[in-house]
Amino acid sequence: MTATFIDGTKVGEDLKAEVAVEVQELQARGVRPGLSVILVGEDAASSAYVNMKARTCEKLGIHSRKITLPGSIQTAELIEQVRRLNEDDAIDGILIQLPLPKHVDKHAVLESVDPRKDVDGFHSSNLGSLLLGHEALVACTPFGVMTLLKRYGVNLEGKHAVVLGRSDDVGKPQAILLMHANATVTICHSKTRNLADVVRQADVIVAAIGRTALVTADMVKPGAVVMDVGTNKVSDRATVERLFGRDETRWSDFEKRGYVWAGDVDERGVKEVASMLTPVPGGVGPMTIATLMKNTLAAARMRRKL
Ligand code: NAP
Repeated sequence: MTATFIDGTKVGEDLKAEVAVEVQELQARGVRPGLSVILVGEDAASSAYVNMKARTCEKLGIHSRKITLPGSIQTAELIEQVRRLNEDDAIDGILIQLPLPKHVDKHAVLESVDPRKDVDGFHSSNLGSLLLGHEALVACTPFGVMTLLKRYGVNLEGKHAVVLGRSDDVGKPQAILLMHANATVTICHSKTRNLADVVRQADVIVAAIGRTALVTADMVKPGAVVMDVGTNKVSDRATVERLFGRDETRWSDFEKRGYVWAGDVDERGVKEVASMLTPVPGGVGPMTIATLMKNTLAAARMRRKL
């Protein structure tokens, strides 16, 4: 069996186009959704992500505001910035780019965001609502995975879904969403015993652990659907060779940049066993930004009851 590759770039573009239409409709009613992103410090990767989010907002007609703060900022000052955005009527969504510097109390900062503007879905109030099945802003990456499954016609009812990873931003909300979609869900983590045996029982696998190619073909039941959230930088030649053989695109990227991206799933082997698979890059990644736009729109609507 050779798996169908799930095209997150295409679905992400479709989703953004749908958001742009809805933004136009809202604008005709005098409402322009707005997203503010707070960037703390000068991490190059974080800065690139923030700029990409701002550019996407502009393309879709969403007002965007980037706030850059020094890496030396204290928790209380950062919370004060968030408080101002909470009260700013032009802002519907607030995103705090992670990671924050170690001396900042991340939990306190994330909890200071007005839950109605929490487009990352990280606030305990949104996670609680998600758990109870109430209306909530849902974390972008798991929401993106669910959108891909839906648009590729994967019926989850009664299926065994195994989620690898139990982080607050991916694994936990992912498991809840799959459960609400009537899958039977198993959550695995670093202390799970006989991981391979557990994963082998899955009809649907969501891998979100940050371990390059840990999920290998022998761990995948023939015909399973495999969603690879992992985004791992591979910068040594031997690993690129082991994972991708002579794949020309990967090697050209590697020679240009000095690294390539790889998922938590061994794509080369697993694509021969799975029925569907998200590639890395181009699978779950592009969905995260598209669902952020969708959440900003949803926040604008919910807050104004539109
Ligand atoms: P995280 O906070 O580091 O959590 C990792 C989880 O994986 C933890 O629950 C950990 O278990 C578990 N784990 C680690 N090693 C394991 C192993 N050998 N076997 C089983 N479980 C193991 O990571 P995250 O934020 O959830 O992100 C996970 C991956 O997804 C990363 O590669 C990240 O870059 C990527 N990501 C991608 C997107 C995207 O848009 N594509 C978005 C978010 C994250 P314990 O709880 O026991 O420590």
